[in-house]
Amino acid sequence: MNSNDLSARVTINLSALKANWLALKARAGGAEVGAAIKADAYGLGLAACAKALWVAGCRSYFVARPREGAELRAVLPDATIYVLDGLYDGAAGYYLQHRLVPSLISLPEAQAWAREGQGAPCALHVDSGINRVSMRMAELEQVVAAKLSLNVILLMSHLASSEEPQNPFNALQRQRFAKAQALLPGVRASLANSSGHYLTSDFFCDLTRPGIALYGGNPTPGQPNPMQAVATAEARVLQVRDVPKGEVVGYNTTWTAARDSRVALVGAGYRDGIPRRMSSGLSPGGAHVFVGGQRCPIVGRVSMDMTAVDVTDAKVQRGDWAEFFGTHIPLDEAAASAGTISWELLTHLGSRYARHYIE
Ligand SMILES: *Cc1c(COP(=O)(O)O)cnc(C)c1O
Repeated sequence: MNSNDLSARVTINLSALKANWLALKARAGGAEVGAAIKADAYGLGLAACAKALWVAGCRSYFVARPREGAELRAVLPDATIYVLDGLYDGAAGYYLQHRLVPSLISLPEAQAWAREGQGAPCALHVDSGINRVSMRMAELEQVVAAKLSLNVILLMSHLASSEEPQNPFNALQRQRFAKAQALLPGVRASLANSSGHYLTSDFFCDLTRPGIALYGGNPTPGQPNPMQAVATAEARVLQVRDVPKGEVVGYNTTWTAARDSRVALVGAGYRDGIPRRMSSGLSPGGAHVFVGGQRCPIVGRVSMDMTAVDVTDAKVQRGDWAEFFGTHIPLDEAAASAGTISWELLTHLGSRYARHYIE
């Protein structure tokens, strides 16, 4: 028996990943489309996802940590790899060794790369309002005025609210970024994350940096999801129990059967990234799994290794697969039922899953 079939697994559809990249490419109006592949490709596996995206045509990748960049370099010898954390002190040699492009976030970092970067390419990350790691506009002016010998191949900035197209902060950030672009004529520019592809075309610039949409998250909240589901998280039903009316299920006796019930115990819990907030009573609105061909509510507390599901109205038996999110339960819906966002749900998938790739 293949261990993929034994217990909890995440099935990752690489064809859907590639299709999502191509769909964003089709929207980007001629801009190059890159990929945010930090955090182990949002929990789905750096190597497999990076290779699939390369086949689709992706050449520029964004990681957070230098170590992630080194891991990616081992897989994609010819990719351009940007490190969003910036340039760690004393780390220039490491970046050079793995040909990582630091996205510089301050004047001191720019000076360090000018000294130690041996003319290798770098990016400049300017803040247009989000106040995450990046340099202020005034500091960018200082970097330009310092006439450092830097090979700047990208000017980037990050949007705070691109999934809210009506939010006036988008236009404000766009205007500020235009001022930064004017300081560096001829340097390629990058502003859009996933949802930025669904703003007006002036947000696309020369290179985009989608992440969550590649992995199946909805870049247009409140509207139908234009992306295909990529990840399906499932676990086996370990046991189906008859629970007579009046009995309780799970820790702290938070759920009592209101009728004679059948409860399936599914072999994945919070260690596997099933948020404890999917417990009945803790979840905003209630969480469901898809099992026995239908949606069934989670009951009682999600525990470390298992989750209880009321399957009284479904035909479920031991060994059936129960889906927490994926092709039947949308990723964004599952995240909302745990009071969180798709990014967090994906990146919290535990290491205990078998990761199973299909094309
Ligand atoms: C994570 C990240 C992205 C990708 O954002 P998504 O919302 O997942 O598309 C793009 N740019 C930067 C700087 C990031 O940190």
